[in-house]
Amino acid sequence: MSDQMSDQPQDNPFWSPAVAQLQPYVPGEQPKTTARLIKLNTNESPYPPSPKAQAVLQQEGLAAHLRLYPDPESAELCATIAAEFGLQPDQVFVGNGSDEVLAHAFYSFFKRPEPLLFPDITYSFYPVYCQFFEIEARKLPLRDDFSIAVEDYAVENAGGVILPNPNAPTGRYLPLAEIEQLLQLHPQRVVVIDEAYIDFGGESAATLIDRYPNLLVIHTLSKSHALAGLRLGYAMGQAHLIEGLNRAKNSFNSYPIDGIAQKVATAAIADRAWLVDNCAKVIATRERTCAALTEMGFDIVPSKANFIFAKPPKISAEALFVALRERNIIVRYFNKPRISEYLRISIGTDEEMDALVEACREVL
Ligand SMILES: *Cc1c(COP(=O)(O)O)cnc(C)c1O
Repeated sequence: MSDQMSDQPQDNPFWSPAVAQLQPYVPGEQPKTTARLIKLNTNESPYPPSPKAQAVLQQEGLAAHLRLYPDPESAELCATIAAEFGLQPDQVFVGNGSDEVLAHAFYSFFKRPEPLLFPDITYSFYPVYCQFFEIEARKLPLRDDFSIAVEDYAVENAGGVILPNPNAPTGRYLPLAEIEQLLQLHPQRVVVIDEAYIDFGGESAATLIDRYPNLLVIHTLSKSHALAGLRLGYAMGQAHLIEGLNRAKNSFNSYPIDGIAQKVATAAIADRAWLVDNCAKVIATRERTCAALTEMGFDIVPSKANFIFAKPPKISAEALFVALRERNIIVRYFNKPRISEYLRISIGTDEEMDALVEACREVL
């Protein structure tokens, strides 16, 4: 149940050698029934999505429309995203979840002889894509407080840079001035900023797109828009980068976004008021939870995300993970160097977080 990837080479006579070598990403547990569970392990929203997005699913004739292929370009959706960020529609690319957008970005920009730079502690899909696309990874250590040391990225002959901002699973935010330093360090290479959690208190780098031809910003509807089940992510950057992504996408799958998802996502993106309100609720709950856990002696990394990264006092993170699971609360534990004493706890409702705090008090 903890996050250990099997590094045993698997074997099967029918598999290609490449597949036998893969060490796939292991997602957080998605239990069959969540009825009695408090699920704080995969950073989903505790609240349902925008009523305007939900209303799309009630529209007459929606299912009958499925006989047609969807718009391969998701034009209306791209135009809506562009308008929201003051960009042109040809500066937006959409994909089936931001994981798919990331995959196309790795293939389009990072598949080169030089190594890709990213933090040693970060989203664990990055090394998986490196293996899948045969890209050399160069992991740069975070400082002891888990902040990113931008000066370490002054590596000659890098193939590109990728990092989440806020970082995952630490929740730490890197100010835009430092993102600009990264962009200036590698003017001939793409710098991808994966902003899956940016709406929970950070400032998006999307405002820098017009000044930096090497910047690609990636967003998802899975976290702040409460649409993890819809599978929708997008990238924003200058048109020449978007064209690169489209070349990869149209060499793989012309129709990655179904017609219903395009409509729901368009309504969700247009409802900015709902987004702001939803994030404000999550942020308020995050701050109360941090205060309660800090008082109990937890060591918490400053978070601008919809989760916190916390080191428990007295007992090991693994022991607390197990004890919480016995009390029907699931959080995420990473059995990896440097972070094995921390738990990543998604922010739920106030009631769910009160239950978590109470359970921790009992265990400790
Ligand atoms: C959740 C997450 C994603 C993936 O989001 P999907 O759109 O659901 O595929 C990408 N990057 C980071 C850092 C994430 O935490």
